[in-house]
Amino acid sequence: MIGVTVLGATGSIGVSTLDVLARHPDRFYAVALTANTDAERLAEQCRRHRPKYAVLVDPKAARRLESLLADLPGRPEILSGIAGLEQVSALPEVGYVMAAIVGAAGLRPTLAAARAGKRVLLANKESLVVAGALLMQAVADSGAELLPIDSEHNAIFQCLPPNFSVGLERVGVRRILLTASGGPFRDWPLERLSSVTPEQACAHPTWDMGRKISVDSATMMNKGLEVIEACWLFGTDPDHIQVVVHPQSVIHSLVQYEDGSVLAQLGNPDMRTPIAHAMGWPERIDSGVMPLDLFAVARLDFQAPDFARFPCLRLAFESARVGGTAPVVLNAANEIAVAAFLDRRIDFLDIAAVVEGTLEALPCESVEGQGLEFLLEVDRRAREQAEHLIEARLG
Ligand code: NAD
Ligand code: MG
Repeated sequence: MIGVTVLGATGSIGVSTLDVLARHPDRFYAVALTANTDAERLAEQCRRHRPKYAVLVDPKAARRLESLLADLPGRPEILSGIAGLEQVSALPEVGYVMAAIVGAAGLRPTLAAARAGKRVLLANKESLVVAGALLMQAVADSGAELLPIDSEHNAIFQCLPPNFSVGLERVGVRRILLTASGGPFRDWPLERLSSVTPEQACAHPTWDMGRKISVDSATMMNKGLEVIEACWLFGTDPDHIQVVVHPQSVIHSLVQYEDGSVLAQLGNPDMRTPIAHAMGWPERIDSGVMPLDLFAVARLDFQAPDFARFPCLRLAFESARVGGTAPVVLNAANEIAVAAFLDRRIDFLDIAAVVEGTLEALPCESVEGQGLEFLLEVDRRAREQAEHLIEARLG
C-alpha cells in the first residue's frame, strides 16, 4: 500500500486525484489532504478519504475544520501554515506527493517532497518555472521520482524512451511538439478581446480547470509556462519545442525523431488519465476515463500559434531563452495580473501588458548558485512591481 499526500486536494486536480485514488483502495491510501482556506470542502474529503493529516494554510480555516470534524471518530490531525504543508510532504509513510497547489505558493512543499525522495506527481508547473534548477537538483540528490501530470508533459514522457535523461539528442529526438487548445478566444476578432470577462475566460472549450489556469489558457501564458516546464523536465531548450495549436485537445503532445517518426499520445481530455498514468507507472491502472472514440472525434486540426494575438506566449518564449530570473518575474507578474483580471481591476489585454512592463522594469539576474530565498525575493519584488503597474493603470 502506498501512502499519498495530496497538496491542493480541494482543487480541480486534487479532486481528480482523489477520484483515481478511491478506485484503487488495494494500492493507495490518503495520508494527508491540504487546501488553502476551504474548510467545508476539505472536511467532506476527510470524511470520505480518512487521511491521517489535514492541512489548511489559513489558521482560522484550520480551527473551523477542527469544529467541522469534531464528531468524526479517528479524525485527522489538523495542521496549518506552510510548515504544515512541508511536514506532510516529507512524512516517512508517504510514498507519493501530488503537487497540485496553484502558483508559486506550491514551491516550498513541492521542494520538501523532492528533498525527501518521494515520487512527486507534478501538476504545479509554476514551481518548475520559478525554481527549475533547484527542484531538478533536489530530485537528483535525493533519488526522488518526478512524474509530470500536466497532460502535455505526461504525453511527452510517454512518447520518450525510458533513458531520455541521457539527453534528447542522444536518444534521437529532433524536437518536441507541444499541443495547445488555443483557449476560448483562438478565433475571436482581436478588437473584442479587450471586453472579455472573467466568466468568458474561464469557460474553456475542452478542459474543466481551476480559474487561474483557465485564464492562463485563454492568454496562452499556460503554454508559455509549459514550454519552460518542458525545458526542465526533458533537459532541452525552447528552440527544440514547437507549439502546435490543436483545438480538439485529443493529441496531448508529440515527439519527433531523427528518422522521421512522430510519436503521439492521445486520449479524451480528462486529467484522470495522466494522474492514473503517473500513479500507476510503470504499470497501467484504471482511471475512470471513457475510452477514446475516434469516430466521434472524426477530425484533428492543427494551426501555427499566433504570437501577435497571444503576446503572453511570446513573452514566455523570450523569458525561457533569456533564463536567469526572467521566468521567475514572468510567473510572478502573471499571477498578480491574472488575479487583478479575475477581480475585474484590469482588462484581459492588460494581463500581457503588466507582465511585459514588469519584465522591462526588473533587471534579469543570474540564478547560478542561488537558493530558494533568493528566488522568493525576486518573486516578491516582481509581485510588488506588477501591483505598482496595475495601480498606475487604474490611477
Ligand atoms: P484549483 O484552483 O482548482 O486548485 C488549487 C488548489 O490549491 C486548491 O486546493 C487550493 O486550496 C490550493 N491553494 C490555492 N492557493 C494556495 C496557497 N496559497 N497555499 C496553499 N494551497 C493553495 O487549481 P487546479 O486547476 O487544480 O490547478 C492546480 C495546479 O495544477 C496548477 O499549477 C495548474 O497549472 C496545474 N494544472 C492543472 C490542470 C487542470 O486541468 N486543472 C492541468 C494541468 C496542470
Ligand atoms: Mg497542460
